[in-house]
Amino acid sequence: MGIEGVNSRIAEIQSRIIALQTQRAGTTSASVTSAQGTFASHLQGAIASTAPTGQTYKLNSKGIPEDLAAYGNGKIPETALGRVGNTGHKLWAPAAESLNGMIEDARRDGVEIGITDSYRPYAEQVDLARRKGLYSQGGLAAKPGTSEHGWGMATDLDLNAKALSWMRKNAGNYGFVENVARESWHWAYRPPT
Ligand SMILES: [Zn+2]
Repeated sequence: MGIEGVNSRIAEIQSRIIALQTQRAGTTSASVTSAQGTFASHLQGAIASTAPTGQTYKLNSKGIPEDLAAYGNGKIPETALGRVGNTGHKLWAPAAESLNGMIEDARRDGVEIGITDSYRPYAEQVDLARRKGLYSQGGLAAKPGTSEHGWGMATDLDLNAKALSWMRKNAGNYGFVENVARESWHWAYRPPT
């Protein structure tokens, strides 16, 4: 549902609440108030899981948004990054926002999603490759300058079995995909195009 959809739904529900209030004026206003409370919390959920701007992104041939690609892998400026919750982790701002909404919604479903890694500046990619070896040599690191983490478009999550199955069912709604075989912790962000 786009923002226009959300707005027209809000208008529709508000007019129903007003009708209901008018109808019940002087009788039982308590149940109307509680209906409004429930509506507010549902609305909050709907907004959290909806891209606020409805913005789309033009991708280059490698699937990287053109604006982001211009900075260079591992060289994304602070201004283009967003923080994940109150952790020290950062992702490309739209990815961070989507992840934050997803973590909140999962929590509402009783599922905890932890985060262990996020944006990885170039120097950290070099360090990781040295410590964990390159994929091409049987290791666990991408060649520096090519990692999805270097675009701030991938996150490594701490998922128990319940959280992993929640992710496999729901993450697509937030633009996150499980895209590396044997790395069920690694989730990449696919921006709306
Ligand atoms: Zn990863």
